[in-house]
Amino acid sequence: MRPQSRTNTRLLKWRCTLKRMAKNRPLSRSEIMSRVGQRDTGPELALRRVLWRQGLRYRKNYRIEGIKVDIVILSARLAIFVDGCYWHQCPIHGTRPSSNAAFWIDKFRTNKARDERQGKRLKAAGWSVLRLWEHECRRGCDSALHAIMELIRRP
Ligand SMILES: [Zn+2]
Repeated sequence: MRPQSRTNTRLLKWRCTLKRMAKNRPLSRSEIMSRVGQRDTGPELALRRVLWRQGLRYRKNYRIEGIKVDIVILSARLAIFVDGCYWHQCPIHGTRPSSNAAFWIDKFRTNKARDERQGKRLKAAGWSVLRLWEHECRRGCDSALHAIMELIRRP
């Protein structure tokens, strides 16, 4: 593929996303899949910006006990995960797929079990663990920041 046409494809994809966002329609499976593996997702990036502005210093994608944590505030011994609303099935936006449902439901269950296992391991190692929904890290991240500050202030 020539670089030019690749750029066009990306542009088209993005334009499609914008249209859907404007109409407030959920993303299609292929659109979601095309975002998998992106390290710096929008909500996580938004939260990091807010933390930085608050003067809180963090590490991103930091490994503790072999577990990759999205955001870590070392000084507060706080591990923060930003969970995707779809992948971790948030109660508000966790739409169930209609095709291949069994596969996805199994995948969601595996994700949940892994989240719980990792949380337990981190807590056992003396870390505070905070799991945030992707949707809590939008529009200024107010609720997310509030939850983080509460944990940091705790003696
Ligand atoms: Zn959500």
